[in-house]
Amino acid sequence: MHIADTIENVRSLISSWKKEGLRIGLTPTMGYLHEGHQRLIEQAAKENDRVVVSIFVNPKQFGPNEDLDRYPRDAERDAALCRSAGAHLIFRPAPSVMYPEPFQTTVSVSNLTEGLCGRSRPGHFDGVCTVVAKLFNICQADRAYFGQKDAQQLAVIRQMVRDLNIPTHIVACPIVREQDGLAKSSRNAYLNQDERGEALALSRALLLAEQAVAEGEHSSEAVIALVANELRTSPLITPDYIEIVDPESLRPLQTITAPALLALAAFVGKTRLIDNVILKRSEER
Ligand code: AMP
Repeated sequence: MHIADTIENVRSLISSWKKEGLRIGLTPTMGYLHEGHQRLIEQAAKENDRVVVSIFVNPKQFGPNEDLDRYPRDAERDAALCRSAGAHLIFRPAPSVMYPEPFQTTVSVSNLTEGLCGRSRPGHFDGVCTVVAKLFNICQADRAYFGQKDAQQLAVIRQMVRDLNIPTHIVACPIVREQDGLAKSSRNAYLNQDERGEALALSRALLLAEQAVAEGEHSSEAVIALVANELRTSPLITPDYIEIVDPESLRPLQTITAPALLALAAFVGKTRLIDNVILKRSEER
């Protein structure tokens, strides 16, 4: 497995692979890798001849009061996970490599980034799109792997790829959870023991919603109220949003008529976590 921290080294390796006709899979990450990332890398390894994992804590996608400085990092453990999951190259650039002065370009997707996380994290998706567009240009991957865990990010990236004719196929991978249901996240490392216990309310609430819809509750308002009630049982949780939207357009749905995305964000103590589920009526299951 190669490790590169310059764009030149990544490009020369990838162009030699392309000359051999090898297919390239890319998994963009911010590191502190866990089983969720591992599954993306493993799927990329199954479907491609070479797998690139980028590890970059992208300053442009963090707001001024967010956790950029304390975002967890562990380069050695990440490298071991990448190797065992079947990666061939880790690209881990410094911020100055990705954003040399005077960097002036922003890639921005409009409507899809207005709601959900976009509302409470202004500029976040501009940062995501800008770095992902750069990674796509640098890596020239045939396929790129993203987790359903970040459902809005997935919809935004798909739109960007369509709009900009980027020839990289986007592959979505299911949410990987801890045994007790909590969605795996690098940010779970911030939780103390009490918070870790209460964080379970997020997945528990989504499960309740899933069951209610399967049993015939099709009113978004009622399902959202159910989720809000469940979160209220945990005093350390402050919801940011709970919404039911169309999975592609991300427009709010009054009634759950087709598969619908129930997405939530909540602070558990000071840690902001996100989770979601696709709701399906009984006849769609
Ligand atoms: P991050 O390092 O948090 O930026 O995540 C990198 C990629 O891993 C994104 O496409 C995420 O959606 C995906 N990912 C993170 N956590 C999970 C998870 N629990 N299950 C599936 N994919 C995940």
